[in-house]
Amino acid sequence: MAKNPKNLNVSGAEGVEPAVTPPPAGSETTLIRKPKIAAGSSRKKEIPEGVWTKCPKCSNLIYDKELDHNLKVCPNCQFHFPISARERIHALVETCSFEEMNADMTSVDILQFTGVATYTSKLTAYQKSTGLKDAVITGIGKIGSIKTAIGVMDFSFLGGSMGSVVGEKLTRLIETATDRELPLIIISTSGGARMYEGMFSLMQMAKTCGALGYHAQARLPYISVLTHPTTAGVMASYASVGDLVVAEPGAMIGFAGPRVIKDTTQAELPPGFQTAEFLVDHGMIDAIVGRREMKERLHYYLEFLTGGRTKLAKAG
Ligand SMILES: [Zn+2]
Repeated sequence: MAKNPKNLNVSGAEGVEPAVTPPPAGSETTLIRKPKIAAGSSRKKEIPEGVWTKCPKCSNLIYDKELDHNLKVCPNCQFHFPISARERIHALVETCSFEEMNADMTSVDILQFTGVATYTSKLTAYQKSTGLKDAVITGIGKIGSIKTAIGVMDFSFLGGSMGSVVGEKLTRLIETATDRELPLIIISTSGGARMYEGMFSLMQMAKTCGALGYHAQARLPYISVLTHPTTAGVMASYASVGDLVVAEPGAMIGFAGPRVIKDTTQAELPPGFQTAEFLVDHGMIDAIVGRREMKERLHYYLEFLTGGRTKLAKAG
């Protein structure tokens, strides 16, 4: 009876001599040698930092130059990354048409506030890291052919918080717009009033809205643009009282945070609560406009809202 060849190696494997004697450890006769990887030469480290950014929504790697070119919007899933006030203005107004106002206005530590660090040291640190004097840039620029008063907030300066300087710069901008009969656009992003200035920051809510009242009385248009995130004292004042209120996709917009509301109302919050998409469905804001379409859309709105005035002025 013939032996089943399959059984050969199974039962007697340990007793069979290997055909080739294995080389001793460390011998140079190894046929296949893996190249040794020197410390610090892994592939990951070959990519210089600051060249690629990972999208938090779709996890795609985006080349930084492409991201800048796309106004910090993910080309794959349209996620809107944070963008600085200067970059926004650059993307919005005609070249060389922007004249900045009150560029050197800075906050004073009136309360001598000291927490983990003093308010003065915080201001100095943020001024150095952002190149800004405070959390808003204001000025007059042209969008298409329409001269417009523009205020743009920057979240990277102390969370875009509204202190005396933000309030004063915006109020002066609104008053200039009223005097010069210009339409107004304020692009907001803020965590709310600046606690380091206590009551002085809360007073800015009434001051800015008072100035907006005079601007509205002069029948001049005001468009409020809400970006991620716009909350608390800013949302409860000038950001929510535009003739038109538009928002960027996915922006978180609200007064108090969802946890506070949930604890206060003891109710389950619906999915998507406090997002731009939720608010447009419930009539709180008028439209959602992507950053890449923002300039074109604002120009269209301005033309529509100022058209009557221009025609009247021409007729008069
Ligand atoms: Zn993405």
